[in-house]
Amino acid sequence: MIDLRSFFEAQLPCWPLAKANYDNLEQALFKDIYLSEHERIRLVCLPARIASSSARITAKGEVDRPCFLCSHRLPAEQQHLDFGACDILVNPFPVFKQHFTVPSKAHQRQSFLKEWPCLYRLLEEIPQDYVVFFNGAICGASAPDHLHFQIGQKEVMPLQSDGFAAEHLQLVQEKKRIGLYRLRHYHRQAFLLKTSLSETSRENDLFETIQDLLQAFGQVGKIQAEDHINVVAWKDGQNLMMLIFPRAAHRPACFYAEDESQRFVTSPASVEMMGYYIFPRQEDFHKADAQTLKQIYKDVCLSEEKMDAICSILQSKP
Ligand SMILES: [Zn+2]
Repeated sequence: MIDLRSFFEAQLPCWPLAKANYDNLEQALFKDIYLSEHERIRLVCLPARIASSSARITAKGEVDRPCFLCSHRLPAEQQHLDFGACDILVNPFPVFKQHFTVPSKAHQRQSFLKEWPCLYRLLEEIPQDYVVFFNGAICGASAPDHLHFQIGQKEVMPLQSDGFAAEHLQLVQEKKRIGLYRLRHYHRQAFLLKTSLSETSRENDLFETIQDLLQAFGQVGKIQAEDHINVVAWKDGQNLMMLIFPRAAHRPACFYAEDESQRFVTSPASVEMMGYYIFPRQEDFHKADAQTLKQIYKDVCLSEEKMDAICSILQSKP
């Protein structure tokens, strides 16, 4: 197991900026809203997140600034845990009380599968109380130009902590002991992959299943699918759980509203898709209600029809 806690505790005292930002998390505001009986969303007001919510990223996922994840540009105070093709770093702009960024050592475009062996080992070796997540280049990645994953904590994001009932999971296929389900009766569209980590390595079979899923999504959306997904994975005992959210848009219509009373500064990414909804502006946090959130999810999630189409493609495969 990777000892993330010790690494975190050793890093903070020697990095005042990061320490101050973790201390600021104590000032976050919270409120819970239910979109249905079983669908809880926790709204969070976190002013320090304004930069990533309003970051200027082009439609192709490009940014015009020097890359802040390349090792030669990291602040002098930043320590790293060597992890094969990637490094583990403490994220100085946290959402979680312990929050890590895992960039690849090479400067290369954001991709979910490019450093799969490293990601798979990360999933195997993180302690039970963490989650690993990924934001596609044009749906929430703050550095679309540099491949990276993130690690946050369990029991924070409602879709993980509240769990999902069996009647909300529809089996799409079961191949090579990997169950692929579709989440039903939520205002967000997602697929769930479930497999056991206790048997022989699942590395190659999982890779193939995810590749098939992304290929089907790419076909349906006529897009580079990896750029348009949020992924959140965690261990539940011996099981690996992985939620994949295919996205229709990076930002909801309300982000662009000209009328200030209708406008929300928000760029939903993995954390928001999981129901931990961060608003950097206090006015947005206060005015957001169930209707706002339903509309945001409707704008940024794939439609039911396109989810149906992905399932048909997968089920027609031998
Ligand atoms: Zn870089």
